[in-house]
Amino acid sequence: MTSYLDFSASTPCDERVVQAMLPFFTNHFANPASTLHLPGRQAKNAVEQAREQVAELLGAFSSEIIFTSGASESNNLALLGVARKHAGKRRKILTTAIEHKAILNLKDPLARAGFELVVLPVTPTGRLDLEVLTSHLNDEVLMVSVQAANNEIGTLQDIPSITEMAHQVGAYMHTDATQYIGQLPLDVIDWDVDLLSLSGHKLYGPKGVGALFVRGGASGIPLEPLIYGGGQEWNLRAGTTNVPGVVGLGMAARIMREEGRAIQQHLLTLRARLLDGLSDIPDLHFHGDPEHILPGVVNMRLPQDSEILMAHLQSYALSNGSACRTGALEPSYVIQALGCSVPEAYRALRISLGRTTSVKEVDLFVQDLKREVLENPVF
Ligand SMILES: *Cc1c(COP(=O)(O)O)cnc(C)c1O
Repeated sequence: MTSYLDFSASTPCDERVVQAMLPFFTNHFANPASTLHLPGRQAKNAVEQAREQVAELLGAFSSEIIFTSGASESNNLALLGVARKHAGKRRKILTTAIEHKAILNLKDPLARAGFELVVLPVTPTGRLDLEVLTSHLNDEVLMVSVQAANNEIGTLQDIPSITEMAHQVGAYMHTDATQYIGQLPLDVIDWDVDLLSLSGHKLYGPKGVGALFVRGGASGIPLEPLIYGGGQEWNLRAGTTNVPGVVGLGMAARIMREEGRAIQQHLLTLRARLLDGLSDIPDLHFHGDPEHILPGVVNMRLPQDSEILMAHLQSYALSNGSACRTGALEPSYVIQALGCSVPEAYRALRISLGRTTSVKEVDLFVQDLKREVLENPVF
C-alpha cells in the first residue's frame, strides 16, 4: 500500500461528495438548460444550489460564481478574459515568478492580444516584496494576479495588502486561491479581490471542475469568454454544465466550510510532528516562509537528489516539483525562483499532508526517510 503524501497535487473525493454526485449521472441526467421540463428544472436547481454552496465558502453572492473545468481554465479566463475585453490604455498584467503554469504560460497569448505579462521576482522564502510591487504599479497596469498560496512550497502572500495597492492605481486584483482554499478559510469581502480561482480536486472534490469568482458577476468585471456557444453561465462560459461535477464541487465547498477548521488543526498537528521527527537530520533546509505557510505543506532540501530518494521510497507518494510537469527532468522553477541553484533545486522534496493522513503514516515516513538519508550519505 502506498502512503499518499502528495495532497497538493490532488486530493481524494470525500465519500459524501461522491454520494451527492451519483444521482446526477443516472436518474437526474437532464440538461440544466432544458428548463421547459421538470427533470431539466431539477438539474438546474442542483446547479444553483452548488453555486450557493461555493459562494458561501467564499463569502460571495452566488451570481458571482462561474463554473469552469478547473483552476487552469479559471486562471485563463481571469487574465485573458479581462485583457481581451479591455480596449483602454492599461496594457500590463503583473504576476510573480512562482505562479502556477496556468498563469505563467499566458505570456504569449497575452502578448498576441497586446498585453505584457510582467513577472515579478520573489524573496528567498517565496514572498512578493511589496516594495517591488510598488515600483511596478502605475496607470498602465490592468491587473495584478498573485496566488494566495504556492502549490510547491506553501508560501502565503499578503493578498489584502496587494489588493489594496492594486486598487490604488485602478488595477483589478486576481488571486489563484486553489491551494489556499483547501487548507485555510478566506473571505472575498475581507480580501476585496475582484477575481478568484479555485479547483474541485484540491478541495476533496472531483477533477475537471472549478470556479471563478467574478466581483459583480455578469454585470461586474468586464470579461470576454474563452468558450463560445450557448448562453450558459451568463454567456461567460458556454457548454452544457458538468452537473455531477458541479454538484460535487458544491458539496466539497459545504464540507470545507463546516469542517475546514478541524482539517486545519489536524494538518498543523501532523506538520509539527513531521518537523520534529526530521529535526535531527543534518544539512536539512526548508523552503518556504515559516511565518506564512500552508499548514499541510513541507518542502525541504536534503543532501541527496530527490529523484533518487523517491526511487528508494517507493511506498510513499511524494513530489519534487509540480505534478503538472511530471516526467520532465527539469528541476522546479519555483525552487529556482527562490534563488536556489539547479543542483539545489534537484534536491527539493515536497511532502503534502491531507485530512486522511494519519500520525502513524507521518511517523513511518520520518523513520524511512531518516534511514534512507543517513545510510546513504553524500560525499
Ligand atoms: C492544481 C492547481 C491549479 C490547476 O488546477 P486544475 O483544476 O488542475 O486545472 C492551478 N493553480 C494552483 C495553485 C494549483 O495548485
